[in-house]
Amino acid sequence: MYLTAAGINELTLIDNDTLDISNLQRQILYNESQLGEDKVNSAKEVLSRLNSEVKINAYKDFIDQNSVKKYLAENKYDFIVDCSDNFKTKFLVNKIALENNLRCVIAGIKDFYGQIITINPKKSACYQCVFSEPLDTPQGEGPLPVIGVTPGILGTLQALEVIKTALGLPNLENKVLMVNLLDLRFNIIDIIKNEACFCSK
Ligand SMILES: [Zn+2]
Repeated sequence: MYLTAAGINELTLIDNDTLDISNLQRQILYNESQLGEDKVNSAKEVLSRLNSEVKINAYKDFIDQNSVKKYLAENKYDFIVDCSDNFKTKFLVNKIALENNLRCVIAGIKDFYGQIITINPKKSACYQCVFSEPLDTPQGEGPLPVIGVTPGILGTLQALEVIKTALGLPNLENKVLMVNLLDLRFNIIDIIKNEACFCSK
């Protein structure tokens, strides 16, 4: 919503989900009248009303190694914003960003906590330099509890990172911002490229 309001030029949304009433506690782009609709189409409609000058591309699809190739071939992108709710996708988005030399911002949340990192391929540490790959078990994929405000704050920070990076302003490259909304603490941890990570090879 903030990227569209800022007039980000062009935005591509990829999501395979339909709107459920349980989403409305945090996904404030949507409202009750859109329940059951495809999220990408409802999002496109709402965002187009917010700023008709931003071109919105909406694709109802899962992101995986193959589908993403199709979208990367169709358009030229500058930035990937990971808005996924699982580790597997975050690691995939990180890999795609590195392979295609695209800047990327990845945020994760759990109840009152969040973390966010911006990646500049070849130059900064990547997501996998910092976080180890999730175990391929059901525990790695289960839904996490969430207070609706937490993704709102982390998502807004992601939009801020895109805008600041585009303007050449300081961002979260080589840094992880740890957000603790229970105690209202924001901590920045300096990080460096891990020489054992695939991004260093
Ligand atoms: Zn790495």
